Amino acid sequence: MGILEIKGVNKRFGGLKALDDVNLSIAENTTHAIIGPNGAGKSTLLNVLVGKLIPDSGSVTFDGQSILGRQPHEINQMGISRVFQTPEIFGDLSVFENVMIPCFAKRDGAFRMHAYESIFAEKAIQQQAEEILADVNMLEKRHMIASSLSRGDKRRLEMAMCLVQNPRLLLLDEPTAGMARADTQNTIALLKEIREKRSITMAIIEHDMNVVFSLAERITVLAQGTPLVEDTPDNIKGHPKVREAYLGE
Ligand code: ADP
Ligand code: MG
Repeated sequence: MGILEIKGVNKRFGGLKALDDVNLSIAENTTHAIIGPNGAGKSTLLNVLVGKLIPDSGSVTFDGQSILGRQPHEINQMGISRVFQTPEIFGDLSVFENVMIPCFAKRDGAFRMHAYESIFAEKAIQQQAEEILADVNMLEKRHMIASSLSRGDKRRLEMAMCLVQNPRLLLLDEPTAGMARADTQNTIALLKEIREKRSITMAIIEHDMNVVFSLAERITVLAQGTPLVEDTPDNIKGHPKVREAYLGE
């Protein structure tokens, strides 16, 4: 059984079936990409996984426990963390302070803004933050103000803010959207480094095939709300159904 099990999930918006009987299993410690044309239902599926949308029917379990009906922060505490398309960092805090925020929020069970207002020096948290920053190669930039970071470094910082929560499943929503080629390559390298340093499951929703084929071990192709095929990158590349539905051939 996968760490994430999606079974018979349906979601309608009025007359439109955004998710149509989705079955998907993501194995622990793998990187699984979900690709598909615009309107395929990728974002809808992601929103179900983070608790922003409740499906009309079906089940979703994480590590054997249902996540349906739980609030986003509860799902986050279960070990599912999401990396946003645009980094969500506090520009007026330093890199180091940003990475401490999820630690405070977790300990207090409080909201991010509350944590933001209550940054105190605390040894255990500082040590944890330093370890994570080392993991994403940002330790030497820890005193820089976040707003002054390059785009690529903001992405590294955001990744650190996710990792400091020790997620078991990292959801990445088009992590390289809008990035220049060099930043895209850097992000791919960063995700590979993270995978080498810690055991983590990644689910990537991605448009850029270069990113998908560089990172994914399994690929699910979603079309019109339904998984069309699931296979290894090599098999997906040559799959006639995929070429037709996704590459428009
Ligand atoms: P993708 O992310 O793969 O491009 P989406 O999940 O965003 O696809 O959308 C799937 C379908 O559901 C699309 O036809 C979209 O227009 C529709 N849709 C998504 N969200 C809503 C919503 N909140 N209300 C109505 N229709 C929606
Ligand atoms: Mg989308």
